[in-house]
Amino acid sequence: MDIVVCIKRVPDVAEADVEIERSGLRIDDSDLSWGMNEWDTFAVEEALRLEAEHGGTVTALTVGGEDDEEVLRRALAMGADTAIRLADDAFEGSDPLAVATVLAAAIRKRPYDLVLTGAVSGDTGSAQLGGMLAALLGAGQVALATRTAFANGKLEVQHEVEGGLERVVELDLPAVVTVQTGINEPRYVSIRGIRKVASVEIPVEGAGDLGLDVAAVGAAGAREALSELFLPPTGEGAEILEGGPDEVAEKLVERLRERGGI
Ligand SMILES: Cc1cc2nc3c(=O)[nH]c(=O)nc-3n(C[C@H](O)[C@H](O)[C@H](O)COP(=O)(O)OP(=O)(O)OC[C@H]3O[C@@H](n4cnc5c(N)ncnc54)[C@H](O)[C@@H]3O)c2cc1C
Repeated sequence: MDIVVCIKRVPDVAEADVEIERSGLRIDDSDLSWGMNEWDTFAVEEALRLEAEHGGTVTALTVGGEDDEEVLRRALAMGADTAIRLADDAFEGSDPLAVATVLAAAIRKRPYDLVLTGAVSGDTGSAQLGGMLAALLGAGQVALATRTAFANGKLEVQHEVEGGLERVVELDLPAVVTVQTGINEPRYVSIRGIRKVASVEIPVEGAGDLGLDVAAVGAAGAREALSELFLPPTGEGAEILEGGPDEVAEKLVERLRERGGI
């Protein structure tokens, strides 16, 4: 099975005090640490697991600049066979549809049975890309996969749906599956493993290589434009409980009792 995994390099915003840049359109990421989008580490691991069971190839793709090559090297260190960076000045100002258009063009160029993406990005978090990619490729799609298995030419996917339920569906290939965290246990990548792939040449493909019309990508092809980015104001009545875990737990129980919650 030939599998393509789409991976994105993101800043770690989960534990950081995020500040907005003066432009009001970007976060100040100068002090943030960067790495592979958490969901994508699970997607790469799932691709490698399926490849180990059924043979084939795993190709990692990212749309991004030179710094983003780091996540492709991580995918190679995990065991991906090939990594390709998709970059072009024409991709600047991309929205999810424009990024999906670039990825779809790169995927169509090579044999593929399955495309895996993360369910969502840890930074911009639009959770749109997998669906758009499937539509552009004319492939079936399942979101939030928690288990995959391949048998008799079909992919069986267990995935999360509303109400805390999970479903199992059978997908014809080629297909696009967006991967939820926890689907597997991503392998540990040692510094030695990263060093081993440090000198691997990572090809770069641009709009021309992908046969893309520059009017369909980047700012020209984008259907959405960010107009404001802000931290929501703390609502009145919100109370931050201070103290150690025991003290906070005690205060929380007190507040819930006062309000008739328990
Ligand atoms: C060259 C470039 C220029 C950009 N310019 C702007 C801009 O001007 N303004 C702005 O607001 N945003 C910009 N972006 C951000 C961009 O709009 C989003 O990152 C992208 O559309 C995907 O949305 P998302 O990250 O919310 O992914 P989601 O829809 O949440 O999807 C998550 C999954 O999609 C895949 N994925 C997401 N991004 C990539 C990628 N780059 N390469 C490979 N796989 C990916 C991963 O598997 C990830 O787990 C730019 C991005 C790029 C690459």
